Amino acid sequence: MSELVKIVLGEDELPRQWYNLAADLPHPMPPPVDRNGAPIGPDALAPVFPMNLIEQEVSTERWIKIPEEVLGILKIWRPTPLYRARRLEQHLKTPAKIYYKNEGVSPPGSHKPNTAVAQAYYNREFGIKRVTTETGAGQWGSAMAFACKLIGIECKVFMVRISFDQKPLRKMMMRTWGANCVASPSMETETGRRILAEDPETPGSLGIAISEALEQAVADEKTRYSLGSVLNHVMLHQTVIGLEAKKQMALVGASPDVIIGCAGGGSNFAGLSFPFIADKIAGSTQARIVATEPESCPTLTRGPFAYDSGDVAMMTPLLPMYSLGHTFVPPPIHAGGLRYHGMAPLVSHVLREGLIEAVAIPQLECYEAALAFAYTEGFIPAPETSHAIAQTIREAKRATEEGKERVILMNWSGHGLMDLTGYQAYFDGKLSDYSPPAEHMERFLACLKDLPKPPPLK
Ligand SMILES: *Cc1c(COP(=O)(O)O)cnc(C)c1O
Repeated sequence: MSELVKIVLGEDELPRQWYNLAADLPHPMPPPVDRNGAPIGPDALAPVFPMNLIEQEVSTERWIKIPEEVLGILKIWRPTPLYRARRLEQHLKTPAKIYYKNEGVSPPGSHKPNTAVAQAYYNREFGIKRVTTETGAGQWGSAMAFACKLIGIECKVFMVRISFDQKPLRKMMMRTWGANCVASPSMETETGRRILAEDPETPGSLGIAISEALEQAVADEKTRYSLGSVLNHVMLHQTVIGLEAKKQMALVGASPDVIIGCAGGGSNFAGLSFPFIADKIAGSTQARIVATEPESCPTLTRGPFAYDSGDVAMMTPLLPMYSLGHTFVPPPIHAGGLRYHGMAPLVSHVLREGLIEAVAIPQLECYEAALAFAYTEGFIPAPETSHAIAQTIREAKRATEEGKERVILMNWSGHGLMDLTGYQAYFDGKLSDYSPPAEHMERFLACLKDLPKPPPLK
C-alpha cells in the first residue's frame, strides 16, 4: 500500500456533505458590521447574494448537504488524486513523506470551481438568471464561466483592464465557456464611466472591478454577485478537498504532521485544512497547520486583525479579518491570486485562536520551489501554489536536519499553464524579492483608523 504514487478514490467516495467549521469554533467569530459598528443582518446582503447562499454564510450547522446536481458536476474531476511526491522527496534527500492534493485537474485548472459550481447552482435555484463577478488574474472568472455554462445561467465578468490586455488567453477561456468578459473600468456602469472620465488610461484594479460587478448586481432583480474567496460559504464549499484528503491519508495509513496551503483570500487553504482543524479542536491530532503568503503582501504575518471592507469603494460590509487596509496597492508580483488586502474571517479567526500558523515567503524562493517541483513531479504549478511548495520544501529540509520522519500534506491549488509569463519573467531575471517597509504598511493601514474595532478574543 505505502508504495502508491497516486491515491485515488472512487466516484462514490465523493463527500456528500460540506463541513462547516463555524459549528466547532472554540470562541464565536465577531459578526460583520456597518460603518457604525452595528452588526449586519442577513437581509442587508439580499440585494447582493441569493438568500440560500446567505443562509450558508451565517450557518453554524456542522454538516450541510451537497445537492445532487452539484455532486454530478463535481464528479467530472472529483475526487481529485492525492499524490505521494516520491521524486521530490528523493531530490531533497529527505526522510519526510510528502503528499499533495492535486486540485489542478479541474477543467479550469484550480480549486476554484469547487465553489463556483455550488454558487451558480444556488443562484439558479433562487431564480437568478445572471451572475456578475470580477477577476484579476483570470482564474476566478474562468471558474465562474465554466460553472455558469454547466448550470445554465449567464455569467458577466469584469476583468481588471491590465490583465484583460496582458492575458488574452484567459479572456478566451471565459468566452469559450460562454461568459461575457469586459475590461474594467467599463462604460457599462456609473463607477466605470466616472473612473474612465477621470483617467482614460487607468490599468484598473480589483477594487474597481468589484464595485462594477456589485453595481450591476444590485441594479437588476434577476442578477446577483458572486465572490471566489474570503466569505464563509466559499470556505464551506472548498471543504470537499480536506474531506477527501482525510480518506486518502487513511488509505495509506498515514496522518499528517504538517498541513500546508497558500492563502490569498484563504479558500484553498481552508478547503484542505478545516476538516483537520476540526480534529485539532477535538484533540485527536496535533498537526501543525501552516498558511503561506507572499512576503510582498503579508496579510496574516504583518497585518493587524481589524474590521475592514472587502473593496476599495467600501461597498461591502466590514469583515473581522487580518488586513493590510482596503487601500493597499499590491506590488506587481506574479502570484495574482495572492495579492488581496484581506483574509477570510474564518481563516483569520483560527489564526487568532492559535490553531494555525502563518509564514510569508519571498518570491524568488517560490519560483525555485516551483521549478524543483516541475523537474521532479512534472506538473507546473500556479505561481500561487508555489508558495505552498516552498514551505513544503522548508519543512522537508528541516526533517532532514533533524533526522526525523515527518508526514507533510500540501494543497496543490492549481496548475500554472495559463501563467507562464510569470515563469518567463523569472527566467529573464526580471523578478526580485520585496518586503514592504514599515512606513508603506503604515500608510495603507491609516484607512482603518476611523473604522470600528473588533472585540478581543474571549
Ligand atoms: C485564486 C487562487 C489562489 C488563492 O485564492 P485562495 O482563496 O486563497 O485559495 C491560490 N491558488 C490558485 C491556483 C488560485 O487560482
